[in-house]
Amino acid sequence: MIESKGYAAQSPTSDLAPWTFERRDVGAHDVQIEILFCGVCHSDYHQIKNDWFPGVFPMVPGHEIVGRITQVGDHVKNFKVGDLAGVGCLVDSCQTCANCQQDLEQYCLEGNTQTYNQVGRDGNVTYGGYANNIVVREEFALHVSEKLDLAAVAPLLCAGITTYSPLRYWKVGQGHKLAVLGLGGLGHMAVKWGVAFGAEVTVLSTSPDKEAAARALGAHNFVVTKDEAQVAAVKGSFDFILDTVSAQHDLGMYLSLLATNGTHIIVGAPPKPLDLSAFSLFDGRKSVVGSSIGGIAETQEMLDFAAEHNIVSDIELINFKDINTAYERMLKGDVRYRFVIDIATL
Ligand code: NAP
Ligand code: ZN
Repeated sequence: MIESKGYAAQSPTSDLAPWTFERRDVGAHDVQIEILFCGVCHSDYHQIKNDWFPGVFPMVPGHEIVGRITQVGDHVKNFKVGDLAGVGCLVDSCQTCANCQQDLEQYCLEGNTQTYNQVGRDGNVTYGGYANNIVVREEFALHVSEKLDLAAVAPLLCAGITTYSPLRYWKVGQGHKLAVLGLGGLGHMAVKWGVAFGAEVTVLSTSPDKEAAARALGAHNFVVTKDEAQVAAVKGSFDFILDTVSAQHDLGMYLSLLATNGTHIIVGAPPKPLDLSAFSLFDGRKSVVGSSIGGIAETQEMLDFAAEHNIVSDIELINFKDINTAYERMLKGDVRYRFVIDIATL
């Protein structure tokens, strides 16, 4: 076994604290990565707090991982020692079902294996990237360009692909009015993609103080959703809303902002179900849809697109010891726009 050091939550009520644990040895198809940076996703917080389902504890969160390969198994074809590599939310899937065959491992019909908080196909608990190393099948490791700021690349592995994938699937681009709902880790990446794909981008935010920053990200318009006059002015106007909100919110109100045939895409994952009135869909033949992260091939496509267009996340680099404070700040919306842990501070 390989000794790993990281930060773990021992239970849903404890803070994250240093912890030593073991990973499997590097198998024939595995690579070992020395982790350099790991992003802090709101999903990490949801999971250590059992917001969605009872978690597997102790839990080492983290699924926005960038590092360097330190060991490769005998049958590894696409990576060598010294290469940069990324790992996102997935570390395994059946790789044979109809969805896996179409590069949709996130929708594996037998259930995918998430990077942490799960018992993997080999019977071992998976531990994430708030740690000094990780061992992963090479099919689930991504190539990372040497060109970009590595700390700012880390959030692309979840926040990046989770927003890139639905915008690509629904072909959002030139001629479309896109509203990005919630300007956090996912939301700020959605703004960057939307602008890069040629859409007219409006940020819908509860935080008036984010306007200047939203415009600096490239957003064309900014609407404070607590301001009734501002909301009234954009009723019936958007082709798409990309909803990244992590908490309870009024879906009906946001649906009223869609144009006829508009689509509300949910990627945020509030702990409790959202209310949906049928009538909010009838008027204007509207759709509510959802999307989960992205497949491995599409994640590589997104990383390559990011390198080509010089797109990375806006980050605040933190020391490991400040992770619990970072969660508190994230809950208050006080992050521009993603915390990334500098693993060297372990
Ligand atoms: P985040 O950085 O905390 O951003 C969430 C943003 O939502 C906040 O900055 C805030 O933006 C807005 N917001 C928060 N509470 C709100 C409320 N009550 N009403 C309206 N807006 C509110 O979180 P994140 O890391 O981007 O993650 C967002 C959500 O996506 C989480 O639930 C996460 O678990 C989920 N997620 C889903 C997937 C997937 O595959 N579908 C992948 C990753 C994450 P403003 O200040 O602008 O209002
Ligand atoms: Zn995430």
